[in-house]
Amino acid sequence: MTEKIIPTRTTRAVIDLSACRHNLQQAKLAAPDSRLIAVIKANAYGHGMLNIAHALNETDMFAVARVEEAVMLRESGIKKPILLLEGFTSEAELILVSRYDLDCVVHHESQIQILEKSNSKTSNEIKINAWLKIDTGMHRLGFVIEEVESTYKRLSLLNKFKQPLQIMTHLANADDKNDQTTLNQIDIFNQKIETIKKINSDPNTIEFSIANSAGILGWPLSHSNWNRPGILLYGVSPFINELADEHNLKPVMTLKSQIISIKKLNKGEPVGYAGEYICEKNMRIGIVAIGYGDGYPRHAKTGTPVLINNKRSQLLGRVSMDMICVDLTDLNDTKIYDSVTLWGKGLPVEEVAAHAGTIAYDLLCGVTKRVEFIYTEK
Ligand SMILES: *Cc1c(COP(=O)(O)O)cnc(C)c1O
Repeated sequence: MTEKIIPTRTTRAVIDLSACRHNLQQAKLAAPDSRLIAVIKANAYGHGMLNIAHALNETDMFAVARVEEAVMLRESGIKKPILLLEGFTSEAELILVSRYDLDCVVHHESQIQILEKSNSKTSNEIKINAWLKIDTGMHRLGFVIEEVESTYKRLSLLNKFKQPLQIMTHLANADDKNDQTTLNQIDIFNQKIETIKKINSDPNTIEFSIANSAGILGWPLSHSNWNRPGILLYGVSPFINELADEHNLKPVMTLKSQIISIKKLNKGEPVGYAGEYICEKNMRIGIVAIGYGDGYPRHAKTGTPVLINNKRSQLLGRVSMDMICVDLTDLNDTKIYDSVTLWGKGLPVEEVAAHAGTIAYDLLCGVTKRVEFIYTEK
């Protein structure tokens, strides 16, 4: 009998679920009076939506961007409320929203028309929970300030909602603690809330939501009934120029691979495609089995940090689809098949992102299916 051999893949993303729970707790500690909407859109920022959702028992609600994501959560047994950050885009989606009992952001006139249309068909008993989105300066989704009151009144007339309409907005610049735009947005929001409360017969039933991760950790005035942590759950700082451990956050994803070749090169010899890096001296080079085909950023430059046996080294030359080259010159004891960490524990993804001219969100979301995901509980 031959035994079936299942190889473990060289390139892995190790996902620490206990770190994710720890990070959720930090959001709670920073704003103890607010309830939490854990944002797990885009496959939980690349970490695996279902695994993350099932690990976050302590959240009060989840949020995703698309109806398909929410349906997947419901079908996997998630019973908590789920907020659709972009709402629905058609009557067919509205039917799913109702069937799967989803909370919905209403941010555009066309959605009200869809609701009104479905209202006229009495056979279709559609009832949802809705969150009216106000554009306080981000200028992406949401009703402009001048339309909020009339929109609120118009929605209130529809007999479509299981609960009172809730109100939300999104912060555009909260990642920069010196940018006053955030206070401005909060101000505009609070003023609108006052007018809405005046036209509501039962104003205390309305609930509000403003804060994303940066709001939660850096802008106490943005805390309200519901906060919406995203990136902080994954152990990444939401602020420019600040690292996660300054906020007691723990990295959730550690991306790892192995050295699959080692070679000695002489001063003046090129490394990789287009010879973008030329050896400055006689060097020892390691070839690591990870590339942009795995989601390692192709724009990472020479000098991007990597960890080899927990010691720092650097990327040399261009990132290929399946491989990168790293400097082993000063790491004499490194051997073939030694482990390499591309980001995560011991090497903040924020740092790697800066070297690649992007943000941590982008790198985390970009890890591809070729990478093996391993979930750990500690
Ligand atoms: C993605 C998103 C969040 C979470 O933002 P983070 O910066 O990751 O905390 C919150 N609210 C809305 C509307 C979003 O789209």
